[in-house]
Amino acid sequence: MTTIRTTCSRCGDVELTTGDVGLELAGEGGEGRYRFDCPLCGATERRPANERVVSILLATGVSYEIVPMEEPLTEAEITRFVRELNEGDWFSELAASD
Ligand SMILES: [Zn+2]
Repeated sequence: MTTIRTTCSRCGDVELTTGDVGLELAGEGGEGRYRFDCPLCGATERRPANERVVSILLATGVSYEIVPMEEPLTEAEITRFVRELNEGDWFSELAASD
């Protein structure tokens, strides 16, 4: 089973399976966000997902829904996402695991 490693804003590193993650897309094949319920604290977290992350998550079998993107990403979300991209290696691990 594919393990998706990400971080909870309260708990730090957490491991999820594809069933724990849902994608919220602005349209087919575009960018969006992924959503997960933290397995430790139960909080629902949302993170921006760029096109590459979206395609990787879809390839692992994560379910998705098309939702209206009313709120633009905040600067803080983008900053955090970029930092995680630089620090984290969750999707290289994701891409490697099968
Ligand atoms: Zn948590």
